[in-house]
Amino acid sequence: MARQVRVPFVDLGAAHRRLRAEIAEVVGRVIESSAFIGGAEVRHFEEEFAAYCGAQHCVGVANGTDALTLALRALGVSRGDIVVTVPFTFIATVEAIDLVGATPLFVDIADADYTIDVGAVERVLRQRRVKALIAVHLYGHPAAMEELLPLARRYGVAVVEDAAQAHGARVTIGSASRRVGGLGDVAGFSFYPTKNLGAMGDAGAVTTNDEALASRLRLLRDHGQSAKYEHACRGAMNSRLDAIQAAVLRVKLRHLDAWNAARRAAAARYGELLGEVAVRVPRERDGAESVFHQYAIRVTGRDACRQGLLERGVETGLHYPVPLHRQPAWAHLGLGAKAFPVAETAAAEVLSLPLSPDIGLEQQEWVARALREVAGTR
Ligand SMILES: *Cc1c(COP(=O)(O)O)cnc(C)c1O
Repeated sequence: MARQVRVPFVDLGAAHRRLRAEIAEVVGRVIESSAFIGGAEVRHFEEEFAAYCGAQHCVGVANGTDALTLALRALGVSRGDIVVTVPFTFIATVEAIDLVGATPLFVDIADADYTIDVGAVERVLRQRRVKALIAVHLYGHPAAMEELLPLARRYGVAVVEDAAQAHGARVTIGSASRRVGGLGDVAGFSFYPTKNLGAMGDAGAVTTNDEALASRLRLLRDHGQSAKYEHACRGAMNSRLDAIQAAVLRVKLRHLDAWNAARRAAAARYGELLGEVAVRVPRERDGAESVFHQYAIRVTGRDACRQGLLERGVETGLHYPVPLHRQPAWAHLGLGAKAFPVAETAAAEVLSLPLSPDIGLEQQEWVARALREVAGTR
């Protein structure tokens, strides 16, 4: 056997080494200004990120969980309200619902792309009074917004995008290809370091086309302050975006399209390399353009396969091994392993392969070769 190639699951080192001088310079500028909270860097980043998403407004916040929480709060979602979402996502989606005192109502995902099942949403909306819906653009693949938006409008349900994994992803609505973040009523983004656009610490943002909502978000993230020491509303908190993180994000935003294109190219290459291997590779829905935050394959005997890959130097990830309704925190809902069969099977079979803008051909070939050994061919 040839020399073993080590393929880490995430490697942020190369990108940061390339940008190090530029980042040091902008961080230096923030230090000179002494404007660490708010100020020009935050304002500029908000303008630039709103423009990038094709949204009218962006409000920088402390992290993606706060972004979703504040989005719900700004919409007026509160105790007693029902919010529809999926059990196959990162826990933060449902934490946000919980934090505003509302009740999550889970529906299953679509087998094809792991995003919310539109038919299941429609069945729920016919029976229950629902205040809002959180559509998660999982793995960088946009939810079926072209169907969800008209459906939600018909039932008077607010639409929140959980875009934490999908900066720059696109869907076709009518004849237009549009980026996520400006599609529903409001969207939450995370800039956790490993996301497609990552800060050097925690950071997040909310985007919207609704000016009144944007104003409420600006109050809610900053103690409800309408003027110094004048607190206009309850439900507010401290969730501001640091100027240093905003400065870093402005540098990185200029590279996001190139990084997403590199991720898409690497995903296409995996598709070719894994053509005969007995796994299911991700597919894009018609009109949708994923930014491949994760490249999650499906494989039976997933855990043994994962171990076999590790023995061959290939690290992988699990997103996510236990659906949220079966987490200890949500056991009181009484929903068992039969409640959401598509999510359940996905949780048992998904395996995220290493994929980053910097992954090399040699590494991808090694992953494919290792996978062929452990999973076999079809
Ligand atoms: C990362 C993530 C979040 C939360 O972001 P944080 O910045 O870590 O709070 C929310 N939803 C999804 C789907 C995520 O992947």
